[in-house]
This record gives sequence, structure tokens and C-alpha cells, in this order.
Amino acid sequence: MFISIIVPLYNEETNISILHEKVSNVFLNLQHQYELLFINDGSSDNSLQVLESLSQKDEHVKYVSFSNNFGKEAGMYCGLEHCKGDAAIIMDSDLQHPPEIIPELVQLHNEGYHQVVALRDRQNESIFKKIPANLFYKISHRMIDVKLKSGEGDFRLISRPVIDSILNLTEYNRFSKGIFEWVGFNKTTVTFDHQERHDGKSKFSFFKLIDYGIDGIISFNNKPLRVCFYLGGLTMIVCLLYIMVTFVDILLHGIEAPGYFTIISAILFLGGLQLFSLGVIGEYIGRIYYETKHRPKYIIAQSNIKHEK
Ligand code: UDP
Ligand code: MG
Repeated sequence: MFISIIVPLYNEETNISILHEKVSNVFLNLQHQYELLFINDGSSDNSLQVLESLSQKDEHVKYVSFSNNFGKEAGMYCGLEHCKGDAAIIMDSDLQHPPEIIPELVQLHNEGYHQVVALRDRQNESIFKKIPANLFYKISHRMIDVKLKSGEGDFRLISRPVIDSILNLTEYNRFSKGIFEWVGFNKTTVTFDHQERHDGKSKFSFFKLIDYGIDGIISFNNKPLRVCFYLGGLTMIVCLLYIMVTFVDILLHGIEAPGYFTIISAILFLGGLQLFSLGVIGEYIGRIYYETKHRPKYIIAQSNIKHEK
């Protein structure tokens, strides 16, 4: 069996060599052929130079280098497109995904699982990530039809049929957590302890994570639109009832002039609801806009892979 390790990276010059060393050590004791495929997502540091020199020393090292920063999702898609493995393992370049558990992933794959997910134990994680993450999973369980699980990320082994299915989902707005779940196949998990980043800073700031969460919920299906539909319908019914009651009241008692509070509340509430719904609709239109452009997900500037697909 041939295994492809896919590593998307952006400005990780200090982490690449040590990751390479660890992965190489793991495969010394594994009876499988492998390639270590780095996707350089338009790094502005010396990541590319490090990759070039590594690939000259070690023929297992393959790299594809983008012309710009297209994002981790694009990097992963490119990795899957260019890998030639019977199975692929996607992992981060900052050693937060320990290569030591690769044999376990491979073992479970050999037992017949198409997806072996490395589940991150979130116990030791900072509270600033844990609370929004929990909130996200709570909302996502209601809003999207695939069940996302806390701690399940992109670190996983996927078999060739899964890779090919994922490649068939060619959408531009990619939310891979959902895509992995959506394609299905039988799946099992392996737990690993949360690791700190080896060097450098996380590329996902607090606000980027919130954006990512909204992306996750919106880019998967149209349930948020449904929610607006229901909210609008409910508000309309309540308003109709209120109008009827007020009308009867006027018939019976005549018009009472002071109504400042009622008017202001109605204007503000309805205005808020309309803006909210418009925002949701706008998010969808934005996504349609991007999809209809049919832009490539990434542009390759340089690579040492010969068999371009
Ligand atoms: N990454 C990438 N492109 C980006 C941002 C990040 O390829 O635009 C890579 C990054 O180099 C790392 C992985 O995605 O290998 C996860 O990023 P990071 O460690 O910053 O995220 P965190 O672990 O904090 O969620
Ligand atoms: Mg990280």
C-alpha cells in the first residue's frame, strides 16, 4: 500500500524540517511506501526554499507551491488532487498533529475503515477557543444535516474511494469538516492529546475562527434561510394578532394617542429582523457569486511533481 501524507502550510519555515524528520522516522518502521506532499500556500517566508532543499535530499518529499495564499482548504484540495496514494493522511505542519499516531491510523485502515479520524482531546485547550467551539457545535447540530463532532478536524486518514469522492465535490466555498462527513464511508476514531504549536503563531485568529464557523453553517445547506422564513412567518402572525387586537380596541374605545413605545419597538424589532434576514440572504448570494465565477481554487507557481493530473 502506498500512503500519501498531505501537509498544507503557510509560513512554516521553522517547522517543516522537524515534521519531515518525524514522519521519516515513523515510516522507517512501517512496511509501506509513502510520499510526503507539502502544499506551500503562498508563504512569504523561506518555506519554499526549505522544501526545495528537502526534496533534493529525500525523494519522498514532493511539493506544490501556490502563486498566492489561497487558504488551507485550497491547499488540502490540491494535495488530494496531486497525491498518488491508496490512502492519504492530511496533517498540519506545526506538529499539532503528532506523526507518531500514523501507524495506528494505517492499522485501522487495514482493518477495513475508509476514514480514520484523529480526534483531538480538547481538555487542555485555551478557554477562548473552547467556548466558541462548543457554541459552534451546538448551533451546527441544529443547522446542518451532517453531524460535526468537537475535536474532529482535518487530521485523518482517508482511503482512495473517499479521496475520489471528495475530489468530485468541486465547489469553490469549501468547508472540509462538513465535506468529510457528507461523503460518508465507514469511519472510526483515534484520540490524541492536544499539542501546542511547535513554532510560530496560529494563522487562525479569533475573528477568523468566527468567520470559519459562519462559513461552516452557511456553506452547507439552506437551513439558515429556512430559519429566516420561519422567523418572518412567526413575526407576521404575531403582528397580525396584535393589529387585530388593536383594531378591536380602537372600535370599542376610540384611538388613544400615546403609542410611542409600541411604535418604536415595532420599528426596531422589525428593522432588526429584516436586516438579519437580508444578511443571511446576502451570505448566500455572495457564495453564488463566487461559485459562478468558476475561478480555479488555486494557482500553482512551482512544483516537483512530474505527473500533473
Ligand atoms: N495554513 C495554510 N494556509 C493558510 C493558513 C494556514 O496552509 O492560509 C496551514 C498552516 O500552515 C498549518 C495548518 O494550515 O499547517 C493549520 O493552521 P494553524 O496551525 O495556523 O491553525 P490552528 O492549528 O491554530 O487551527
Ligand atoms: Mg496549528
